Amino acid sequence: MNLQSGTVDVSLEALEGLLTRIFESHGCSSTTAAILAANCASAEAAGSFSHGVFRVDGYVSSLRSGWVDGAAVPEVHLKAAGHVFVDAKNGFAQVALHAARALFVQRIRESGIALLSIRGSHHLAALWPDVTPFAQEGLIAISMVNSFGCSIPVGAKKPLLGTNPFAFAAPIRGEAPLVFDFATTSMANGDVQLAAREGRTLPPGMGVDSNGEATTDPNKILNGGALVPFGGHKGSAISLMIELLVAGLTGGKFSSEVDWSAHPGAQTPHTGQIIIGIDPAISEPDGFSDRSSQFIVMLREAGMQSYPGMRRWRIQGKTHISISSAVLERLTDHAMKAK
Ligand code: NDP
Repeated sequence: MNLQSGTVDVSLEALEGLLTRIFESHGCSSTTAAILAANCASAEAAGSFSHGVFRVDGYVSSLRSGWVDGAAVPEVHLKAAGHVFVDAKNGFAQVALHAARALFVQRIRESGIALLSIRGSHHLAALWPDVTPFAQEGLIAISMVNSFGCSIPVGAKKPLLGTNPFAFAAPIRGEAPLVFDFATTSMANGDVQLAAREGRTLPPGMGVDSNGEATTDPNKILNGGALVPFGGHKGSAISLMIELLVAGLTGGKFSSEVDWSAHPGAQTPHTGQIIIGIDPAISEPDGFSDRSSQFIVMLREAGMQSYPGMRRWRIQGKTHISISSAVLERLTDHAMKAK
């Protein structure tokens, strides 16, 4: 322990074990607990702080409120040759993906392309852990999730959109996969919460207060205000597409339809997720793997030494991380408190 900075070095294995105990002691099945624990620990290790251990309070209070079912067993259906559908049964999206993964990969490889649509799921995590493993096995994956009404589409007066993250992963021969993953709002809601918690103001242009006036105060955005889409009308249109593809295709809820008012403490959006998987081997020979390698060479020649996904690739294999001792104490406390 580093007493001066108030941080503790923990092994990722120990952190994952602690997180597993927290989730299990709040009603999650052992499968769900292990999946969520690995997800939170890897996000923390990769520096995705808005979706690492910071989210444990949100998971715990959602589980305690009865809003989400930590023991749900997803139902997987093959809707068409290239469409795998999962009813998450009010459980977590990562568990639904885990249940459908083998069938989905088989459908991608057989058809060259397939869709995984998930309905009735809760997603409170970063999206890159969902898509990166596909690229690691040579596939391209595109994923989208909608969330809860907290962002105002350009031209509207109400927060109809969620922070609606969008992620992409593609294999690059002999190199780190190219992976990007971000909210389609000006910033992730978790980062607004972190700023509020730490007493920081936000850069201009991130959101509005309850009167629709621009504000840099994160508390005003969180309490009755809203975020705005990234990139003006362009990000707004991408977020509209995400609502249509995720809620429309899965038959799930639009972000603005998420109503957790009967479950005080609920924080996990109850919506859906889609993943589009493509097998780039169908374009061989002289296809994707050659062309994508040539593209990376062109990027380097243009001066771009690091592309999205490389930073995380370089730190994979990390075994220990530093976390605040106050946060560790809080996690230990959660682990001891059963539902
Ligand atoms: P960021 O604005 O931090 O952008 C992250 C992405 O951009 C990463 O792919 C990152 O690659 C890349 N990137 C960042 N800076 C650079 C740079 N200088 N050069 C090249 N690439 C760069 O993401 P957000 O804050 O919008 O989102 C954070 C997380 O929140 C995401 O993981 C998202 O999935 C999650 N989220 C989840 C929601 C949910 O409902 N589950 C809702 C909203 C957001 P790299 O990692 O390699 O640095």
